[in-house]
Amino acid sequence: MTCVCPVCGYPGLAEPPRRRRGSGSYEICPSCGFQFGVSDDDHGHTHKSWRTTWKKSGMKWAARRRPPPPGWNPQTQLAGAAPADSTPARKPPSGKPARQHGPGQAVKTPPI
Ligand SMILES: [Zn+2]
Repeated sequence: MTCVCPVCGYPGLAEPPRRRRGSGSYEICPSCGFQFGVSDDDHGHTHKSWRTTWKKSGMKWAARRRPPPPGWNPQTQLAGAAPADSTPARKPPSGKPARQHGPGQAVKTPPI
């Protein structure tokens, strides 16, 4: 049984990234290099932040001792993964988020 890497979509992980009790598998994804239970729990990376960094660094195959599968294409792989938090970057046109009431400014009608 193989599992899909939640960071990069690599479909060949030997174990699920998380065990049922929540501990990491300690497996290192050969594609993006994320180590479940270490990169996240010990080093504080999120899947999203790791993915962003991995993308910026050119989406390189991480495993040095293991060659990528024939025809490996990180972009196709990532697209197939469809990570939940890969929301398209959309910014408000003004550059400032629309905000009605800030914290501590709750408008309350005093009782008469
Ligand atoms: Zn990965």
